[in-house]
Amino acid sequence: MDRARRRKFGQNFLDVPTAIAIAGDLPADEGDAVLEIGPGHGALTEHLLNRGVELTAVEIDEQCVEVLNEKFGKRKNFNIVNMDFLKFDLQAFLEAHEKPWVTGNLPYNVSTAIIAGLMPRLHLTRGFMGMVQLEVAERICAAPCSSNYGSLSVLVSAFADTRILRKIGPEHFTPRPNVDSATMLITPRENPLQAPEGFFDFVRAAFTQKRKTLTNSFGKAYEKKKIQQAIELLDYPATVRAEELSPEQFLEFYRVIVDDM
Ligand code: SAM
Repeated sequence: MDRARRRKFGQNFLDVPTAIAIAGDLPADEGDAVLEIGPGHGALTEHLLNRGVELTAVEIDEQCVEVLNEKFGKRKNFNIVNMDFLKFDLQAFLEAHEKPWVTGNLPYNVSTAIIAGLMPRLHLTRGFMGMVQLEVAERICAAPCSSNYGSLSVLVSAFADTRILRKIGPEHFTPRPNVDSATMLITPRENPLQAPEGFFDFVRAAFTQKRKTLTNSFGKAYEKKKIQQAIELLDYPATVRAEELSPEQFLEFYRVIVDDM
């Protein structure tokens, strides 16, 4: 076992029964385009291909790509791209395919970056169904006023409806990770938030000192007086915290601040 490689690429391979169950959760039909991120040795890939979807897999590790080509190279509905998904031209892929599903048991070290990058383009897909670390899934799917709600929850819920599907323990992987995992379904919202540039930086800034009231939680990023004035104008309680604002309220708040700058 190449331990260094497995750690570098976040490789934890699923057992067969769990892979079958997860692949079965993808609401895709025969002939649908599917983009799989990090196929590894093809645990999910095999069961997705058996359902007759047109699958494109993006895998960074050339050793995995060799294994995948041996297993599935002859199947007409299988395409493999050997590259870092963070460098993959997602926009071009989505424009060239009719509303694909996006899936994968994501490498945990880059799962947040992958989900964050996908969100502004989610409307070009039918959605994402896949696995991340449980703690990340809980942050992604958190509602306002809950302990896991943060800037990632706001970013995702600005574009998507989310739900945790399955919690998966470490015993279902080889090697066993040190954390629990979960699959999520993330589908495009009917009316995504029209978020201007700079909005998500503002949201991140609001959560930098999450336990404090909004007037104090921005640190030095925004003038305290402006924040106070906006809170008064919008009739929010003086003690309001970032974790109490919905994405819509954040946007309303951002507009008041920016219009005043
Ligand atoms: N899908 C397989 C399974 O469930 O058994 C493997 C999942 S494993 C958690 C993550 C996979 O993503 C590994 O195959 C790893 O090599 C691949 N990977 C890691 N970083 C990647 C990246 N930046 N772009 C594409 N694939 C990546």
